Amino acid sequence: MEPDKCCESGCIPCERDSDGQEPLDLCNYIGGEFVCPMGDEWMNVLEPATGHRFARVPLSGEADVGDAVRAARMAQPAWGALSHSERADWLDRIADALEARYEEIATLESRDTGKPISLARDVDAQRSVSNFRFFAGMLREHEQEVFEMSSATNYVVNKPVGVGALITPWNLPLYLLSWKVAPAIGMGNTVVCKPSELTPMTADLLMRVIDEVDLPAGVVNLVHGDGVGAGAPLVAHSDVDLVSFTGGTATGEKVAASAAPVFKKLSLELGGKNASIVFADCDMDATVAGVVRAGFLNQGQVCLCGSRILVEESIYDGFRDRFVDAVEAMRVGDPSDEATDLGALISRQHLEKVQGYVELAKEEGGSLLSGGVPCMPAEFEHGNWMAPTVIEGLSPNSRCSTEEIFGPVVTLHPFSSEEEAVAIANNTRYGLAGSVWTGNLEKGKRVSEAIDTGMVWVNTWLHRDLRVPFGGVKDSGVGREGGKWSLGFFSEAMNVCVKHD
Ligand code: NAD
Repeated sequence: MEPDKCCESGCIPCERDSDGQEPLDLCNYIGGEFVCPMGDEWMNVLEPATGHRFARVPLSGEADVGDAVRAARMAQPAWGALSHSERADWLDRIADALEARYEEIATLESRDTGKPISLARDVDAQRSVSNFRFFAGMLREHEQEVFEMSSATNYVVNKPVGVGALITPWNLPLYLLSWKVAPAIGMGNTVVCKPSELTPMTADLLMRVIDEVDLPAGVVNLVHGDGVGAGAPLVAHSDVDLVSFTGGTATGEKVAASAAPVFKKLSLELGGKNASIVFADCDMDATVAGVVRAGFLNQGQVCLCGSRILVEESIYDGFRDRFVDAVEAMRVGDPSDEATDLGALISRQHLEKVQGYVELAKEEGGSLLSGGVPCMPAEFEHGNWMAPTVIEGLSPNSRCSTEEIFGPVVTLHPFSSEEEAVAIANNTRYGLAGSVWTGNLEKGKRVSEAIDTGMVWVNTWLHRDLRVPFGGVKDSGVGREGGKWSLGFFSEAMNVCVKHD
């Protein structure tokens, strides 16, 4: 159905508006139709760079969620009955249609999140397309597992789980949503998506693409809204069979508390406080560049960001000076400018939280080596701006060194031995990722394996192969997604044992 038809009920028009003059009112997408929410509660979508409203997102409620789950349930049997290769063809159609809107994805994502356009193009738009293509390829290659015995043959059938709830955060909106939608529907499930209320624009674009390619109605549904009004009822819904959640650890606890007692399949990708460990024998130029990128990509708002930088004490002073120079050379500015390295933080509330941690760092005995509020042109005066901030002198036990800040703030810590580096790296409730920088690859691997996280990079960072397991330990999450782990999570493995004649 065309988007403007949902205005027949007299609700607020939901036509697209790309010139930014009037706020665009987004709709839910349920059963193959763009529909207005049943209630009349809306939230402004603000551009982080300017503070201006450019859209409104419906704050949907339990009734909207119920409709979406019903549509997903009705569509599941027919969708689940398709072959892997038929569903792979659908994923490729979605990838093609998204690719045709590559620049639109990048522009919307940059405007919605405040991230630099170059990053939105190279990371967000690129990965959103490749997630669909990658899982289409995996489905085609997927082979049934067979285990022979002398007296019988076992074979494994990967059945769909049923209806999935896919809940995503604001930092990598379409990148993370497509990372869930593609394998979930690829394995024959139908889904209800609940994107972050702060960044709904590219989720809306994905629904338009799905509508455009004529994906069977009800296979992918989307309900906009906040966590309490839409996310919680979705997780709790009795007809939802699995929940894939990416977001903060505190929210993950609530999601787990709601889903676990009724045995829903659950994947939780949560927060991180990752260490970048720099040894004296590293390649200094490459390491400074890599550790700066790990610290500040997306304004430090990536769950994998290396916000604790542990440096071998023999090179601490030299590394620190070069690191601070490189940080100060980064350009904070207009996200639509191709030359910008750092854009705005997602919201005023988040900016205040991050700034609060900088104040706390001073109280905890830290010294600021760089940071502050950047001087911005008048059009950006209401944006959420913060210069990349480097702090030293904090105890590795301090709150700023152990809690997730999720902004452009890193702390520097010297260490004197491998053992001490590992102990500091593990000195947090989180266990998501990390990186080790050394000229000695044996040492790099040894230290990596001693760190309690789900993934570690040696002499690189965010170097992603989509086939590998992705996820965290400790309070960073439960389960793994990525490659065959995604296909496993989004299906039920059933063994059939046939006795030989
Ligand atoms: P958040 O937990 O506040 O929100 C995430 C999503 O959950 C949003 O869609 C929100 O509306 C929804 N939600 C909120 N309360 C809910 C509830 N009670 N029930 C169901 N859904 C609810 O997280 P955020 O601020 O959007 O994102 C930042 C966090 O996400 C950081 O902690 C970051 O580390 C984490 N993150 C983790 C990964 C990963 O792969 N491990 C990736 C990206 C971000």
